[in-house]
Amino acid sequence: MDLKDLYRDVILDHNKRPRNFGRLDPCDTAADGNNPLCGDRLTVTLRLQGDRIDDIRFEGRGCAISTASASLMTEAVKGLDQAAVQSLHARVHEALTASIDAPPPEDLGKLAALAGVREFPARVKCASLSWHTLAAALAHHAQHAHPTDRPVQPDQAGRAADAPPAAVAVSTE
Ligand code: ZN
Repeated sequence: MDLKDLYRDVILDHNKRPRNFGRLDPCDTAADGNNPLCGDRLTVTLRLQGDRIDDIRFEGRGCAISTASASLMTEAVKGLDQAAVQSLHARVHEALTASIDAPPPEDLGKLAALAGVREFPARVKCASLSWHTLAAALAHHAQHAHPTDRPVQPDQAGRAADAPPAAVAVSTE
C-alpha cells in the first residue's frame, strides 16, 4: 500500500470512528489545543501511572486530519512512558515536515499515514495539534506534580481528592 492509499484509508477511518474519544474524569492532567488557522479545537485528558500514560482521551471539533491525528495519537501513546512519547512525537514531527520526495517513515505503524499530510503543508498544523496538546498536558503535570508529598497511588480516591487539574491551553499560532 503506498503512502497516498494509507493516508486516505487511515484518515477516513479514524475521522469516521475516532478512538479514545471523550473525557477522563477524574484525570491527572489535561490541556486544550487550538489551531486558529483551521478552527480545530480539542481537549486531551490523561491518567498517569507514575511516568507512564495509563489512559488518554480526546474530544473536540476539527477537520478530518486533526480528528484522525488525535485518534491515532491516543492509540499510539497509551502505555508509553514520557521519554517514549517524546521520541515518538519527534519522529511524527519529522514525518510531517519531511520533503515530499522523502521515503515514507519506517516503524511508525499507522502513524506513518500522517506523513501523507506533507503534500498539503497548510494542514501540517492540523495533524500536529494533538501532539502539541499532549506535550502541553505532560509539561503542565511535570510543573505541578509534587511526587515527594504525593506518592503514586493506584486507587482512584487519592486522585479524586486532589484538586482537578486546570487545563492548560496551547495554540499552534
Ligand atoms: Zn484542521
